[in-house]
Amino acid sequence: MSDAPVLRMESVRKTFGDSVVLRDVDLEVAPHTVTALIGASGSGKSTLLRCANLLEEIDDGAIWLDDEEITDPRVDQDAVRRRIGVVFQAYNLFPHMTVLDNITLAPRRVHGVSREEAEARARELLERLGLGEKADAYPDRLSGGQQQRVAIARALAVRPRLLLFDEITAALDPELVGEVLTVVRDLKDDGMTMVLATHEMGFARDVADQVCFLDSGVVLERGTAEQVFGDPQQERTQRFLRRIV
Ligand code: ADP
Ligand code: MG
Repeated sequence: MSDAPVLRMESVRKTFGDSVVLRDVDLEVAPHTVTALIGASGSGKSTLLRCANLLEEIDDGAIWLDDEEITDPRVDQDAVRRRIGVVFQAYNLFPHMTVLDNITLAPRRVHGVSREEAEARARELLERLGLGEKADAYPDRLSGGQQQRVAIARALAVRPRLLLFDEITAALDPELVGEVLTVVRDLKDDGMTMVLATHEMGFARDVADQVCFLDSGVVLERGTAEQVFGDPQQERTQRFLRRIV
């Protein structure tokens, strides 16, 4: 039972107008694993993550979170989203709120957690992410890497079942990328289940249990990091990796 996938997608199809953006996508994410989505710009990585979080409605197929089919129209979508933490490329912190308020907002407003409990949890997370001193700072006083770590703390504050990260280092200056990736690695060591779209191939190779190469909305190749990076079977995967690494 505990090995059942946290996230499962079956034959997911997503179109925008005439263009098919996801085609017959199958995906299984086992508990406590990291799945890396790689592929060229426009291959469908963000759309896949947005479908998993029900930010986009799929045209066909089905998605399960644990044993619940979340694409069933009767499902409470807000309740599903409360179980999934999402961090995007641009750290979307609320600029008029302190770090602490950014992190405690959802637990207090959406999950009904008391202020004391939410703040205690937020301070614990900040400590863990190396931001213990920043609780009362406003986002514009933080570096990009610090802001992105706050965004991760905010996603963790509601104790999500699953974390979705979309190119979370893409907007950062190169010297700030490492501190964010270190946090992801620590989360993996803590047993978090994560799906991340990334252009950081070295990182994906290092941290991912499963790598999926997307090409024009198709999962063209998948396997362990060792398989996909070390011995890619598809010509297109080989070409993509040659170009990017
Ligand atoms: P990636 O994250 O891999 O760069 P995306 O999922 O963002 O890819 O995009 C996949 C394809 O879907 C692209 O061709 C993109 O132009 C298209 N697309 C994404 N979002 C929309 C949208 N809201 N409306 C129309 N087309 C979209
Ligand atoms: Mg994207």
